[in-house]
Amino acid sequence: MIVYDLRCAEGHRFEGWFGSARDFASQRRRGLLSCPACGGTRIERALSAPRINVGAAAPVAAPQMKTQEMEGKDPFAIAQMLYSRMLDEIFTRAEDVGARFPEEARRIHYEQAPARMIRGRASEEEHDALVDEGIPVARIPLPGVDRLN
Ligand SMILES: [Zn+2]
Repeated sequence: MIVYDLRCAEGHRFEGWFGSARDFASQRRRGLLSCPACGGTRIERALSAPRINVGAAAPVAAPQMKTQEMEGKDPFAIAQMLYSRMLDEIFTRAEDVGARFPEEARRIHYEQAPARMIRGRASEEEHDALVDEGIPVARIPLPGVDRLN
């Protein structure tokens, strides 16, 4: 299963669950998706927090913080801490496929390789091509690191 944040033309946001990215694309093309609030069928994927779960095998848990940790800190510092924890999580759990990222993301998407979370590098063109094909990838700029997808 894969979860998408969706948005209708009126701006209502809702979640949609699909068997695969292909399933989502085909339902959308056939106009089978509709907004639970207004019934509109012009549905787009909404931008959401970066998700690295290519293939949706292992969703990254949202980082949690205890109230004591947040006390007295400004929101920017808290956001930075959450971000760095999320990166830790990704680095720990995702398989590094390096420059094979675009190829491997495609194989997972088209179910030619086991669904799992991967990370690696992709050029601007490769990244855009993956997005165009409806393959869920997220780009995370890292200081000192080439590029993590
Ligand atoms: Zn709506």
